[in-house]
Amino acid sequence: MERRIVGIVPPDHARISKWINALALKYGDLLECTVIGKSLLDREIFALRIGNNLSGRRVLYCGGVHGREWITSLLLMVLAEDILEQYAKGGRICEMDVRRLLDASGLVIIPALNPDGIDISVNSAADPGLKNLLSAELLEKCGNTAFCRRWKSNARGVDLNRNFNAGWDDMRLAALERGITGPSSEGWTGKYPESEPETRAVVNLCESMRFRHMIAFHSQGEVIYWNYREFTPPRAHIMARILAMSSGYTLSEPDRLAGAAGLKDWFMEKYGAPAFTVEVGCGECPLPLSGFRFMYHRLREMLVLGIAM
Ligand SMILES: [Zn+2]
Repeated sequence: MERRIVGIVPPDHARISKWINALALKYGDLLECTVIGKSLLDREIFALRIGNNLSGRRVLYCGGVHGREWITSLLLMVLAEDILEQYAKGGRICEMDVRRLLDASGLVIIPALNPDGIDISVNSAADPGLKNLLSAELLEKCGNTAFCRRWKSNARGVDLNRNFNAGWDDMRLAALERGITGPSSEGWTGKYPESEPETRAVVNLCESMRFRHMIAFHSQGEVIYWNYREFTPPRAHIMARILAMSSGYTLSEPDRLAGAAGLKDWFMEKYGAPAFTVEVGCGECPLPLSGFRFMYHRLREMLVLGIAM
């Protein structure tokens, strides 16, 4: 088997940057890499464009929204390399002709929307810039490696999937009721919707490039969320059933308060187009790499069907 560029290792920002550069060198015109924004600690937020992005058939995959869910960034980087390899040689993935698929549709992948949060989870709170962003109390907690490993928020303690402008007020009230009144390793909505540069990066991308639908990747639970209040378009349910059948994951509907202010919620409310949250894998947190190959193999068909739909 050909040697792969993307290794099965925790994907911190340095590794993701290196992989993207190497993929761009190897695959030339088949891959276009853009920077859609910068994180609070000045890390690039990358978007990989593969296939026919001039067509109206464009789909967005977004991973690494929560720091400790970095396995979703690895999943999307492995997918990018898998697709590029088959695209270049005219091969197939799960019986689907990749060249035919991607000559007709475009795929945009944001492997890591929250690069600072991922680095906190993977490498602990080593970045000196955190001193300017986090309270003394939160910094002290970050002295504990186990605490860092479970970090979900961005570098100033805002949970990006609670920061989108869809049901944000309800989510803020729910957070307050749970005792989350300010920056935290998880669950804090931020001071106002889209207050964070990472949130704005994906919002701006969606505004500049309309997508037919999108999938946000989180972990864990082997569950697919597919609706958002009255904004769910009719075709979302049948698409969700296809995603569920091809992966063996279960469909779920969050209760009104649990499901708001996330990327998929905002996308559905804003565009009336389908959006899904796929919670990959099941086990300890963060998910260990030992189960990665099995997980990828299980999701491979769903990942290409998500482009074809
Ligand atoms: Zn998550």
